[in-house]
Amino acid sequence: DESNGSSESFVKIPEIKFTKLFINGNFVDSISGKTFGTIDPRTGEETARIAEGDKEDVDLAVKAARDAFDHGPWPRLPGSARRRIMMKYADLIEENIEELAALDTIDAGKLFSWGKAVDIPVVAEMLRYYAGAADKIHGETLKMSRELQGYTLREPVGVVGHIIPWNFPSSLFFMKVAPALAAGCTMIVKPAEQTPLSALRYAHLAKLAGIPDGVINVVTGFGPTAGAAIASHMDIDKISFTGSTEVGRLVMVAAAKSNLKAVSLELGGKSPVIIFDDADVDKAADLALLGILYNKGEICVAGSRVFVQEGIYDELVKKLEEKAKTWAVGDPFDPTVRHGPQVDKTQFERILSYIEHGKREGATLLTGGKPCGQKGYYIEPTIFTDVKDNMVIAKEEIFGPVMSLMKFKTVEEAIERANATRYGLAAGIVTNDLNLANTVSRSIRAGVIWINCYFAFDMDCPYGGFKMSGFGRDLGMDALDKYLQVKSVVTPIYNSPW
Ligand code: NAD
Repeated sequence: DESNGSSESFVKIPEIKFTKLFINGNFVDSISGKTFGTIDPRTGEETARIAEGDKEDVDLAVKAARDAFDHGPWPRLPGSARRRIMMKYADLIEENIEELAALDTIDAGKLFSWGKAVDIPVVAEMLRYYAGAADKIHGETLKMSRELQGYTLREPVGVVGHIIPWNFPSSLFFMKVAPALAAGCTMIVKPAEQTPLSALRYAHLAKLAGIPDGVINVVTGFGPTAGAAIASHMDIDKISFTGSTEVGRLVMVAAAKSNLKAVSLELGGKSPVIIFDDADVDKAADLALLGILYNKGEICVAGSRVFVQEGIYDELVKKLEEKAKTWAVGDPFDPTVRHGPQVDKTQFERILSYIEHGKREGATLLTGGKPCGQKGYYIEPTIFTDVKDNMVIAKEEIFGPVMSLMKFKTVEEAIERANATRYGLAAGIVTNDLNLANTVSRSIRAGVIWINCYFAFDMDCPYGGFKMSGFGRDLGMDALDKYLQVKSVVTPIYNSPW
């Protein structure tokens, strides 16, 4: 069997040092004293007990963040001083890359080699990217229509609540925290209950870097308790949420019913990849497979609906089948493995039930479709052909390694069908025809379009949703705007010659 080798043979698992809530610069137990287990998806076994925060703990964390915002140095520091501290923070992360990558592997089943080479180094760079912006935040001078002088200030929005999911525990933490720090905000972060480990270590490194107490607070715990307390808190000014569309709606309702805090939502997707007849079949197959199998399909922008033009459909199907079989499934610490376990039992069962649904609805299973390994939450890379647009597997976000393949004839048809979804997060286009690529890019309603590539993320490239994939943008300078607000300052000018 190819999966579930003992991790010890590949890498030494780090000691788990941080398991408590991080509030006002200290690691503390939850007020209730309750804890919950975090599970290693390679085995299904518990790795650590983590403090379970609830409403009272959120209240303490918000009080600390409020104090740090209203009276503390962070928002008042010159941007250059925030920049220096953020650079130090980035250096400390870089000094601990292996440990941080390993924490995400035992919590989320993510590939260790990838974490070490990409995820963790990139979060350090993300901090530096926004650190460089911290002293370049400025407003505008206004040309008013009468005898008034006016200018705008861009000020930090205040206390921010960040609620994040489990699929990219490190990247998502810093996609939220880095721009908010640069803006001068203070914050409370609730990591997903499945993946608390790296967030607590990042809290510790923030302290070592010199980020003042109360600026970053981390409350681990569950969504309906700790998460809901953040969403409905009267003293939080802004909430930045990444997660499912379903919970995004609850967060927005809670914000509306409490203090009308500003909300931004990064939600689910069912992104199309459109492959045209002129594509190189071999490259297109690689791209489509990466689009659905990267991070075992647990990525909001997964290319889960693959539309293939009829001229190359049969050839592409053959290629996909061959290539999917070579996609090594197994222990995510093994450097030759490309596909680790799904994050937990719930997701594992959910994905398998979608696969069963696909079979019952009449789609053809080309490859995969089964769990694998003796233990843990491993699922084979799975491809369905003959998928109809109205099948559940073509409409709902599966959040796992399950591709739906569909055939199309004309460009207009491809655009129409690609857009026939309530989501609008990403889209892929594979063609060598520049005019076609440009036309389709402008016709697809999604926040990011990848032409002849997929997952081409960059910290300078804003990303977020259209339609029910949410609103607001992470990454790029757009993300900084989420954590700033504009204040206009106006004075009269008498006897102006203009
Ligand atoms: P989820 O919505 O269940 O959980 C996300 C976070 O919300 C967790 O921290 C959870 O504890 C919290 N939460 C749950 N209930 C809550 C409530 N009532 N109030 C406040 N917070 C609550 O999502 P998930 O299953 O953890 O993650 C998968 C989803 O996330 C997928 O739909 C995926 O597309 C989406 N996602 C989106 C992006 C993006 O950038 N658009 C990125 C990654 C994941």
